[in-house]
Amino acid sequence: MNQKKRKKRKLRTWVKVVIGILIVLLLWLIVYPLYQSQKKSTSQNNESTENYVVDTDVSIIIDPGHGGMDGGALSSSNKSEKDLTLEYALQIGEDIKKLNPNIDVSYTHTTDEIPWENVNSLDYALDDLNGRMNLVNDQDPDYLLSIHFNSKEDKSEYGYESYVRGDDIASDTIYKYIVKNLDAIPWSKNNGCWSTEGYPLQMVDMVKAPSMLIELGFLTNDKEAKELENNEFKEKICMAIAKAYCQYIAEHPEASQRQDVSKNPNVIPENLPDNLKSEETKSEENNTDNSQS
Ligand SMILES: [Zn+2]
Repeated sequence: MNQKKRKKRKLRTWVKVVIGILIVLLLWLIVYPLYQSQKKSTSQNNESTENYVVDTDVSIIIDPGHGGMDGGALSSSNKSEKDLTLEYALQIGEDIKKLNPNIDVSYTHTTDEIPWENVNSLDYALDDLNGRMNLVNDQDPDYLLSIHFNSKEDKSEYGYESYVRGDDIASDTIYKYIVKNLDAIPWSKNNGCWSTEGYPLQMVDMVKAPSMLIELGFLTNDKEAKELENNEFKEKICMAIAKAYCQYIAEHPEASQRQDVSKNPNVIPENLPDNLKSEETKSEENNTDNSQS
């Protein structure tokens, strides 16, 4: 073999090695990012199903804010608030159970039929509120979430907001988590977490548990109503709310702090049902009865 041929063969082997290395490098560049993104999505999936599981006995009642005779507001596509609140309540409850099966989830009603009696047919709204409030307080849950949708003559108005007691740190914190989760979708805008101080709301002020009434967007706003009725948005919004509750409960797995309803400045003690009256009010009432007789 002459010198020239040997040189050529040496050169060919060298080129083959370089091409081999380049191919390996190229494959690595393609495969590695794919592997990383798959790893990331698996850990995200795990986060949505596992991170919220804690050992706990806490319970939550979810209240679809309307039902039966009371349809509530009407959306621009003629869907009634009572139908939407029921859909959202059931979905949020299901999602909470998915995230942490240890949380006891129940509802004030699960169909359009409401389980409480309307004794005073002259004031249906008052009867309805009393029925809801009594049902919740009888079950004495750790949390109450009452779901509503907003409406206004000004159809450009949009966004969600909530009402909690001024001293209810639990509901205030949970609302902050809800805002964080809805921003991450992203969906609509936060119009604030309002205190019921000076704006009495029976389902917040006359319930022992940390209680939040949420107005989940404006049905009178075309865009917002369409989004709220869209399944994909509904699933994301419900999961955002469920995650907020499960995050708070994971951080506070113990029973929640109940309020002494009779001490709430928004409440007229005499108007309370017997089981919510303080011992003082009860004995004062007894004294008055005695002096009258
Ligand atoms: Zn409502």
